[in-house]
Amino acid sequence: MTENTAPTKTWLVGDLLQTTTVFLGQKGLATPRLEAELLLAEILALTRMQLYVHFDRVMTEQELEAYRGLIRRRIKREPSAYILGRREFYLLNFKVTPDTLIPRPETELLVDEAIALAKPLTEPLIWDLGCGCGAIALALAKNLPQSRVTATDLSLPALEVAKGNALVLGLSDQVEFLAGDLTHPVAGRQFNLICANLPYVPQAEIETLDPDVSQFEPRLALDGGPDGLDPFRRLLPEVSVLLKPGGYLLLEIHPPTLPDLTALIQQAQLAVQKVLVDYGKNNRVVVVKADNRQTT
Ligand code: GLN
Repeated sequence: MTENTAPTKTWLVGDLLQTTTVFLGQKGLATPRLEAELLLAEILALTRMQLYVHFDRVMTEQELEAYRGLIRRRIKREPSAYILGRREFYLLNFKVTPDTLIPRPETELLVDEAIALAKPLTEPLIWDLGCGCGAIALALAKNLPQSRVTATDLSLPALEVAKGNALVLGLSDQVEFLAGDLTHPVAGRQFNLICANLPYVPQAEIETLDPDVSQFEPRLALDGGPDGLDPFRRLLPEVSVLLKPGGYLLLEIHPPTLPDLTALIQQAQLAVQKVLVDYGKNNRVVVVKADNRQTT
């Protein structure tokens, strides 16, 4: 038999996953099995769980070619969330694009805390500052049906993605979207809760992050200036007037900036009420309230 007539290798789903996992691992990806499964599930229009009962299924040539195409993109470090165009956050599906940061599991801690703080209120008013694809705003709206949520972002393309997500999730009536920088879109208003996942990476550290992040995620959503605190320096002095009495500000942070950020919080007549630690044992979310000790 000559080279030309040799039958191409028959790939079964199970074997393909195993081989691809080894390959992605060699290429330096941290979770190769998960990624191999996510991309194959997409090609076969199955859930990851369903792959496991189809291990003996034979891949067609077209499916193989399509899968190879996705794997080629992934090894150039394009994040799987951008390849698939979506990411799950707080058990909801979000469309994501290169204009939006990819929602992270750590941010679910902020949402947990915000829900706990807002639950006792009859009609909590919530502001998600820098909403990106809308992950925080929409997870809160979904889990706090009595709330009204305002979501703002400087990036118009990100805001469009967020609006689309609100529509798909049936939350358009409960969430309003406004474009603008920091507090500009909400001047004169007051909220029970303000949530913000601001750009917080110190400029010089961006290049040291995974290439998936530094080469593909929007710099506008990452770059916090020389020490990572520029957006906080601009925001904090304006927070007191935007919070209703007894209200809270929840900030996702770059863990090493906590001491300097705490000083900025105090200068703004606010107080750190607690710090939440993420799965990697990093200080990740700061809960801030008006400082009652400060009287005039
Ligand atoms: N969590 C992102 C990272 O560390 C940064 C997000 C942000 O700047 N808000 O890669």
